[in-house]
Amino acid sequence: MSQDLWREAQNYFAGGVNSPVRAAVRPYPFYVKGGRGAYLITEDSEELIDYVLGYGPLILGHAHQNVVRRVKEQLERGWLYGTPSRAEVELARKIVRHVPSAQKVRFVNSGTEATMTAIRLARGFTGRKRILKFDGNYHGAHDWLLVDAGSAASEFGVATSKGIPEEVSNLVSVCSYNDLTCPEKVLSKEDVAAVILEPVMGNMGVIPPEDGFLSGLRELTRTYGSVLIFDEVITGFRLGLSGAQGHYRVVPDLTTLGKIIGGGFPIGAVCGKREIMDQLTPSGKVFNAGTFNANPISMVGGLATIEELEKGKAYTTSERAAKELSEEIDESIRIPHVVNRVYNFFQFFLGVTSVSTAKEARESRRELYVKIHERLLKEKVFIPPSQFETLFTSEAHDSEVVSRSIEAFKRVLVDIN
Ligand SMILES: *Cc1c(COP(=O)(O)O)cnc(C)c1O
Repeated sequence: MSQDLWREAQNYFAGGVNSPVRAAVRPYPFYVKGGRGAYLITEDSEELIDYVLGYGPLILGHAHQNVVRRVKEQLERGWLYGTPSRAEVELARKIVRHVPSAQKVRFVNSGTEATMTAIRLARGFTGRKRILKFDGNYHGAHDWLLVDAGSAASEFGVATSKGIPEEVSNLVSVCSYNDLTCPEKVLSKEDVAAVILEPVMGNMGVIPPEDGFLSGLRELTRTYGSVLIFDEVITGFRLGLSGAQGHYRVVPDLTTLGKIIGGGFPIGAVCGKREIMDQLTPSGKVFNAGTFNANPISMVGGLATIEELEKGKAYTTSERAAKELSEEIDESIRIPHVVNRVYNFFQFFLGVTSVSTAKEARESRRELYVKIHERLLKEKVFIPPSQFETLFTSEAHDSEVVSRSIEAFKRVLVDIN
């Protein structure tokens, strides 16, 4: 039973968990023994419709047959060689073909490592120190970017984590999202190595870029000689094969990927312009290495996933699901609210009527959101326990799953209005 595991987990883990948002499911997190398609099966033998999907990677749903088969085949052949394997070349070929900015790729093991590596690359390439990021954007758990960092910071009351020296965070300038005045001011005054952003914010709920924001940053960084980094750990291969940069037609210098490109196995990648990527060791002098970099299981899991995505069905199904469900939610809530959806991921905010910055997201009625999350769980629908996370859909969210979800939402939302 989940409750027993949770009780024992208190002895082993700080706060009972290994990643903080998991403890936000009250009174205690359900423990999962399996996943199939759009469903999670808990240790208490409940079947939940899943809109969390591992916080983004599982765009094919749980345990997609073709991914299972390919990973099993790889397991039989061993899973770590300490030397290159075919799958890494094949996965890189896909990324270079689909992601407009990608000329070369470095595989690492998490989104955190990807942005950490991208920052070091940008600094090595430009010889500058300062980084510009945006309030509410989350780029992983490392020191360089954990300043005003979206879901991480906002939910746990650590605007900036303890343990990060101010000498480090002082090198980071933070601007408000969807505003070009602040970046212009910072870039013109300071030598900025890199501007990094989520091209669609997915760690403050969903906040899309306004017209001209991404292209404006492209222009500014070109003018001032800073490296433009799109953190596409969520949007990469979610907003179609070419990610947000294809969707919005703005090409950054570097892109960080993760989540979907490993098909749900641990992964991260930095990719981008050849002359910047070539600064990495061993061809250049910016160090990066990893025992598990390009490990065959993550490579094959990612490859099998992207091959499925190329068939197109995952995109049409996941978009239809997100559109139908988000529109129904929008109609069913009678109090002031807004639903922000981009393609196949979305979030709703209560008590506010527009959210285009992290500040506006923080002004929403989070206690009501949490109440909806809790009620939905009783209706066997799992949405993120935090206002600042995102509802994702997958290929497995077919019309039957969506109808069941809509009914559950309607029952819950009646009480909220
Ligand atoms: C999840 C996420 C990360 C961190 O990736 P991990 O694999 O959790 O380290 C970085 N950037 C964005 C935009 C993310 O959503």
